Amino acid sequence: MSSGSKKLGEYREKRSFEVTPEPAGGAGGGDEGGGRFVIQEHHATRLHWDFRLERDGVLVSWALPRGVPLDPGDNHLAVHTEDHPLDYFDFEGEIPQGEYGGGTVTRWDAGSYETEKWEEGKVVIRLEGERVEGRYSLFRTGKSGTKNWMIHRMDPPPAGREAMPRGLSPMKARLAELPADDGGWGFEIKWDGVRAIAYCETGRVTLESRTGRDIGAAYPEVSGLALELAGAEAVLDGELVAFDPAGRPSFQRLQRRIHITSQNQIRRLREEVPVTYVIFDLLYLDGELLLELPYSERRAWLEALELESESWRTPGFHRGDGASLLGLSRAQHLEGVVGKRLESPYRPGKRGRDWIKVKNVRGQEVVIGGWLPGKGRRDGRIGALLSGYYDGEGEERRLRFAGKVGTGFSERDLELLGQRLEPLRMERSPFEGRQPERAAIFAEPRLVAAVEFAEWTEAGTLRHPSYKGLRDDRPAESVIRERPDPGAAS
Ligand code: MN
Repeated sequence: MSSGSKKLGEYREKRSFEVTPEPAGGAGGGDEGGGRFVIQEHHATRLHWDFRLERDGVLVSWALPRGVPLDPGDNHLAVHTEDHPLDYFDFEGEIPQGEYGGGTVTRWDAGSYETEKWEEGKVVIRLEGERVEGRYSLFRTGKSGTKNWMIHRMDPPPAGREAMPRGLSPMKARLAELPADDGGWGFEIKWDGVRAIAYCETGRVTLESRTGRDIGAAYPEVSGLALELAGAEAVLDGELVAFDPAGRPSFQRLQRRIHITSQNQIRRLREEVPVTYVIFDLLYLDGELLLELPYSERRAWLEALELESESWRTPGFHRGDGASLLGLSRAQHLEGVVGKRLESPYRPGKRGRDWIKVKNVRGQEVVIGGWLPGKGRRDGRIGALLSGYYDGEGEERRLRFAGKVGTGFSERDLELLGQRLEPLRMERSPFEGRQPERAAIFAEPRLVAAVEFAEWTEAGTLRHPSYKGLRDDRPAESVIRERPDPGAAS
């Protein structure tokens, strides 16, 4: 066995041993057949896991930004780093800020390994740890000398482990009145924002809209969840919300974030219009699919994760007594409440009778089928939007005119709507049946807007509608007239 002291030159050069509590190193341990291994969770500038194999008197090391993969289909990056001294095996503690690797190191797993192959740029081993067991290969991805390797699990996933689900469509609530007997129901505040499912893997968060679009880049503040969850893998359901200065969710404010894609603009807007991910369900946790668990149990698991920070929170829910939460939401000028049966499983994409929404204000999504040119102060711009909704099934499906929406716009809204509608201009009316007035300019019915209104008229149009914002997360074809379902909560 050769001494490790020669190999530790780079390790020692990077550190001041008067300052850091890390060991300077000695000799011993590990040979061609194998030895001990350790995985250290390292909260440095970026969270990563340091994977170290004892061999020829040193710890041969890689940094894994996403940890050790448990699924053979999911290779993770492994950045080859300098050999570490054997004493590092037991190191846990605080490396001072400003020092190399400043941050906290804790042991994530340790055990022994056997070597099956150890060649230049390729290593095959079998790990026997407390958390990780199985055959792994590490291989260099580029030419000799590059530090980028990959780590691949060669065995099937650990027994009983379920893969993280992908592309889940969020469960929906049906518009309804409060149930007469609400003992079996849980009630939450209805958050007025953009629904999003977060897939949290080690070191990475993927955020998807209700139509399955990856919207993570627009909300960088949510990516910090990966750090908070550390090694845990979770799929969360929640709403992206922008709060106004009074602490109320403001869909209007959120508009300013929804339509921005430039990273520079997002960085600036983050300060002005911060977004919070309000989490209300947990669908998967560490290899276990939770969809079939009752709502009350999923909530208990979710609350145990204690996800609370500036950019995400987990508000509680009330068992029964929906009327008092609805009253509270009305007093605070909030949109309403969502009721969920305590015993109900999570049904992705379904709008069943287990989740209901009860609103203080009447809201409706509408398809924009054109506009009326502005007059006076709004000359040359949009005066009012022409709204509609789909009616009928299959071949009978028609876009019905639901009246014009002429209030609720900010200057910014008018500008954005002008930009978005102009390219959609068309000659003929997209509406069937009742038509808007002569001056109408028609548009392909692609954009969806949220409006508030007083009531439906007998003719099926909106009375006193007010514009709230564009809903790019809703496909236009899905917009129908929402009616409270008296049977939903029976
Ligand atoms: Mn490290």
